[in-house]
Amino acid sequence: MNSLKILFIVLLNCTSALAQDIKIIDKPIIYDSTRFKLSLQYLKERHGIIKTEPKIEPIMIVLHWTEAKTMSSTFNTFNQPTLNGDRKAIAGASNLNVSSQFLIDRDGSIYRLMPENNFARHVIGLNYCAIGVENVGGNDFPLTDAQLLANEELVRYLTNKYSIKYLIGHYEYTLFKNSAIWKETDPNYQTIKDDPGISFMQKIRFDLKDLNLKSAPNK
Ligand SMILES: [Zn+2]
Repeated sequence: MNSLKILFIVLLNCTSALAQDIKIIDKPIIYDSTRFKLSLQYLKERHGIIKTEPKIEPIMIVLHWTEAKTMSSTFNTFNQPTLNGDRKAIAGASNLNVSSQFLIDRDGSIYRLMPENNFARHVIGLNYCAIGVENVGGNDFPLTDAQLLANEELVRYLTNKYSIKYLIGHYEYTLFKNSAIWKETDPNYQTIKDDPGISFMQKIRFDLKDLNLKSAPNK
């Protein structure tokens, strides 16, 4: 084998390693028997789905921002299995605390808060089929370029692993109302969202065009 051939093979290996390389830091929130039971209850009462284990078959990724300033404050908010007393708008629907499967810090570090296909409460009507990705940011501190890149990597990783068809920003979730995908037993249970910002969704969709992910049903 001549040296040019060897160089070519080395380069090929480097490229494939880069494509699969994603650094995910496991930082689990409490997933105890209380969260387990409340997740099954949420699946039954809100989504009308009876399960013996709170697992999902993801077909969608929902991107969020936290409105909390730091990774650790968000982690602490999600860590307890039951909902904090001040979330009155959603407390009537379930005592299960909000959370997501992933959390991305301002520097692009990706944290996995629970097994990827565990049930998490992050988007009304769609939790049973959606992986949630929270980003530390908000209206006053928009998401960073490092977060954009990390979200892109994570979406590619998840799309490669599961049958993901949809990529949406949380503010778009009501587009699924009246579609077969929407599962919420109370037609009036809805909140208004603006995360993670329209421009962030425009940028990520442009960069991930090749994945052909949909943004709404029948589109
Ligand atoms: Zn959100």
